[in-house]
Amino acid sequence: MADEVRVRFAPSPTGNLHVGGARTALFNWLYARKVGGKFILRVEDTDQGRSTLDSVLGILKGMQWLGLDWDEGPEVPGDYGPYFQSERLDHYRGYADQLMEKQLVYPCFCTPEEIARIKDEQVAAGNDPNYDGRCGCLSQDQVSKMLGSGMDYTIRFRTPDTGETILYDQIRGKVVFRNDLLEDFVIRKSDGMPTYNFAVVVDDALMNITHVIRGDDHISNTPRHILLYQALGFKLPKFFHLPMILGSDKLRLSKRHGAVSVHEFDKMGILPDAMLNYLALLGWSLDGKTEFFTRKQLIKAFSLKRVGSNPAVFDPAKLNWLNASHFMKLSVHDKVEGVYDIMYAEGMDVPDLDEDLAHQMGKIIKLYGKRIKNFPEGAWTLKPFFETYPEYLTAAVTEHLTDEPAARLQVIADRIETMEVFCAEEVEDVVREQAQEEGVEAATIIHALRVALLGCSVSPDVFKLCELMGRELVLIRIRGRQWSSDGHGLKTEI
Ligand code: GLU
Repeated sequence: MADEVRVRFAPSPTGNLHVGGARTALFNWLYARKVGGKFILRVEDTDQGRSTLDSVLGILKGMQWLGLDWDEGPEVPGDYGPYFQSERLDHYRGYADQLMEKQLVYPCFCTPEEIARIKDEQVAAGNDPNYDGRCGCLSQDQVSKMLGSGMDYTIRFRTPDTGETILYDQIRGKVVFRNDLLEDFVIRKSDGMPTYNFAVVVDDALMNITHVIRGDDHISNTPRHILLYQALGFKLPKFFHLPMILGSDKLRLSKRHGAVSVHEFDKMGILPDAMLNYLALLGWSLDGKTEFFTRKQLIKAFSLKRVGSNPAVFDPAKLNWLNASHFMKLSVHDKVEGVYDIMYAEGMDVPDLDEDLAHQMGKIIKLYGKRIKNFPEGAWTLKPFFETYPEYLTAAVTEHLTDEPAARLQVIADRIETMEVFCAEEVEDVVREQAQEEGVEAATIIHALRVALLGCSVSPDVFKLCELMGRELVLIRIRGRQWSSDGHGLKTEI
């Protein structure tokens, strides 16, 4: 029977969950969900100087926001825990001892300054800046003496001087590394902590990870991992190195390119499903054409075989476009809730969300239709409906609400006040009649009315807007303010 598929996401908690990490987590998760395997979350927190609890919490939150649930890991006990590397030090110690007994590793007493000097000399001699392995040549006596004197030391793995280490990467194909170019690398730091290269191998092996799917920035580490797997007698997993993610300038995606943290996208109104959909397209494609996928469709369609090796370019415009597509598919109820949450969080003046309000908001959202592409847009669009006066955009007032149209609106207001039934059709009739009587285009009145009602010059059908706002508010908006006669915005409030 084939091994149960076990994949993992192994973030170092030194910052927020960003696009690259989230994409790695997603590909692992999709694969596990697709084949019915296990998705493990392991926190690689052995870099004590850089790991923070805040980052751990941020990463967990980001994963939860994306809906990438893990089967084992923090807060989800499993048979292979603990899932924080800082709680697994005994394992690393045990395996380092084993390697020491077999003399596959050795203590290195060189100070950081000495190592820097050795590497400078290597560069000066035209070689790669690799540690020259001098501590590996110390006699047993010398080692015992130095250990006895309490000197600080690291532990280095003795890499072969000849031959090649071959990585059969499932995405990149065969990658050959010359062993003579691999320096004797550190597996344990002088503070007793394992290095990433060592801990990752021990943990992947002990946790029975079958597929290692991670960013291609780790390709250069992989020959070291393979050598350690061999030295420790562990079975090699399959390796998949995902293509790099670039910014629009074709440089590796970073903060310089704008939002890169998952929580920033959340704040911008990107939906988790849209984010997942977009992240999936960073390196994977079903058929080179289909771009919209629901979460379920992604699980069904995903295959590691269709992950490419070419770098993927992060395109915020495409993310927004996909987000709008996902937003359109939400129910009105969900849109109302999401919009309300933002209005509330932004301190906008909205009453408690009861059934009536939800109904009213739903009607406005429906009227705006595709004009609202995400929750924040919805919140800002609905804001004026809950204020006595909206914010009037000077440019809109200047263009459409100069003296004449403003005066015309007052007549419309009088007619609105006395109309028997207040509804979109009646308001439209009034506006068109007035236009005809005055011999002007109905559009000039419509534009003026829109600015008076909303403060801006774009909106859906203005008559339907009137109906939604209700007679009282419409009259307040038309009559409550005067616009300056030189057309420069507001003059007074009556
Ligand atoms: N902790 C490593 C990182 O965050 C994990 C790399 C791996 O998946 O092996 O880059």
